[in-house]
Amino acid sequence: MDLGIAGKWALVGGASKGLGWGCARALALEGVNVVMVARGAEVLNKAVEDLRAETGGQVQLIAVAVDITTEAGREAIWNVAGGPGKDYDILVTNAGGPPPGDFRDWNREAWMKAIDSNMLTPIELIKATVDRMAARGFGRIVNITSSAVKAPIDVLGLSNGARSGLTGFVAGASRSAIAAKGVTINNLLPGKFDTDRIRATLPAMAQKQGKTVEELRVIQQAQIPAGRYGNPQEFGAICAFLCSQHAAYMTGQNVLADGGSYAGTY
Ligand code: NAP
Repeated sequence: MDLGIAGKWALVGGASKGLGWGCARALALEGVNVVMVARGAEVLNKAVEDLRAETGGQVQLIAVAVDITTEAGREAIWNVAGGPGKDYDILVTNAGGPPPGDFRDWNREAWMKAIDSNMLTPIELIKATVDRMAARGFGRIVNITSSAVKAPIDVLGLSNGARSGLTGFVAGASRSAIAAKGVTINNLLPGKFDTDRIRATLPAMAQKQGKTVEELRVIQQAQIPAGRYGNPQEFGAICAFLCSQHAAYMTGQNVLADGGSYAGTY
């Protein structure tokens, strides 16, 4: 299926590895030019180089090694040489998730960090680009959130809370006047994907349950109806579809990619 987005420009956060990388790759393979953001320059540059080789130089790929949760980081993105300024057609918001823990240990600073990263940063990025998309009659915004928005995970309270704030914002903003101007905003909710993020959160969960990390991996995968963790490539394919011409009539949705883990009918 031709997704009809070749030649567009996308900004993808957290794109050096994991789910953001999966989205950047899937879009680039569809002919989209991608500005890829992550803090660590070495891993990011390698990811861009590899993708350049995979796409045969057919698309423009630009690395911006900044912290996307800071104003200075976002300024650097808007001003990067060769980029589209703020005239993006596609925006995939994503940064690292907050650490796991016990809510009794989180102070105001911990909460502000989580809210900044997982709620206010996506809102700032949307604010900077959405009206320009509407003026051009096309825009696709996908926020990488978490299945924890629908089915909270106790040790991920910072994530449950901050991402719920973003979800509420998107529910309203996606149905505002921009909806009639070709701009969609959807959230893509990962369940359990085999990335560094899951490798970072497993030890705390394993310790809490008195199990080894390997035991917990086996148990968790057995509990997923699909029988396994997801991978970034298949996550990226869903993201690319949401960014496609074909998904024009789909907005304000929370799309689960969780191998069937969420057991609700709706
Ligand atoms: P990951 O493999 O750890 O990748 C995170 C990416 O984001 C890396 O490229 C990282 O590079 C970048 N990043 C982190 N903080 C950043 C910042 N402040 N500014 C710019 N880039 C930043 O994580 P993932 O599994 O892809 O997860 C992506 C998102 O989905 C996270 O918010 C995570 O909580 C959420 N999620 C993941 C799962 C899962 O199963 N994997 C499930 C539910 C939700 P640098 O560190 O170099 O910046």
